[in-house]
Amino acid sequence: MAGTFVKKLKRGLLMTHTEFIDKVGESFRRTGPVEPAQLDRLEEALIAADTGVELSIRLVDLLREDVRKGRLTTSDELRPAVRERLLELLKATEKANPVTVVLNRPKVTLLVGVNGTGKTTTVAKIAKRRKEEGAKVVLAAADTFRAAAVEQLQIWAERVGAPVVSQREGADPAAVVYDAIASAKAQDAGEVIVDTAGRLHTHANLMKELEKVQKVAAREVEGAPHEVLLVLDATTGSNGIEQAERFGATAGVNGVVLTKLDGTAKGGVILAIADTLGLPVRWVGVGEGADDLLPFDPEDFIDALLEA
Ligand code: GDP
Repeated sequence: MAGTFVKKLKRGLLMTHTEFIDKVGESFRRTGPVEPAQLDRLEEALIAADTGVELSIRLVDLLREDVRKGRLTTSDELRPAVRERLLELLKATEKANPVTVVLNRPKVTLLVGVNGTGKTTTVAKIAKRRKEEGAKVVLAAADTFRAAAVEQLQIWAERVGAPVVSQREGADPAAVVYDAIASAKAQDAGEVIVDTAGRLHTHANLMKELEKVQKVAAREVEGAPHEVLLVLDATTGSNGIEQAERFGATAGVNGVVLTKLDGTAKGGVILAIADTLGLPVRWVGVGEGADDLLPFDPEDFIDALLEA
């Protein structure tokens, strides 16, 4: 199983890995003592690989300090040093956002993010995985702004074999979530996964709507929503960070799903997102199929990224 996971991750990360290591690998392949110019080039390479300017500079500054203090001397120590620093960063985001313990059922998960990022697809992918783990799942079609969104979720729900609760176009999304929670309770389902709108007439309206959805969830299940996952499209690169900042502030986001990692060379953006937002990546999407979702594992990710 672990082998399949790493294989899938590597396939998903192929472009990212290639571009990242093309740019960054030169510094790792050198021999002899670590030179200041080598670290300068590493810094440029990290920035060029979408790791984020601030993070790249900070990371290499730490390495410069390691060199000064004699903790890092030869070039063959550089890759492990970068690996360790990046892992530290990713693990810190997880520590700061521990997974919520579900004391009261059903567990409620909201997926938020702008349209086209892959929310609906990801709802279905998570549902499929939970079902395979033995959970009973109810989906909530709370993007009532677009009729097509409800239909799309219904198609996916059928494919993965999960019931979906929906109402007419324009209905109150909070009412849909209320119904979905009631339905889950009635059939003793352990999970409700909610697809939400990515756009309304104004951003302020959207944030108000998401807040109301959360309030209703909290009223119906103490501690809900347990997870609010911001879905970001990796192919938009650093643009995703802007989106994340707009959503994160009001929507109580406590994790990220990065989709379309299979279609981009910009996977370094995971690092920039984790660093800028302090949010852990929970899942990565590596394709359009129902099985193309992987739980994010910092070590596997960093290893796949830095592998020669
Ligand atoms: P939503 O508007 O946020 O609900 O986005 P959708 O779920 O409708 O997805 C938008 C498009 O992105 C669809 O064509 C999906 O098939 C595609 N998509 C979603 N996730 C992935 C992924 O991980 N990889 C690839 N290649 N495509 C994806």
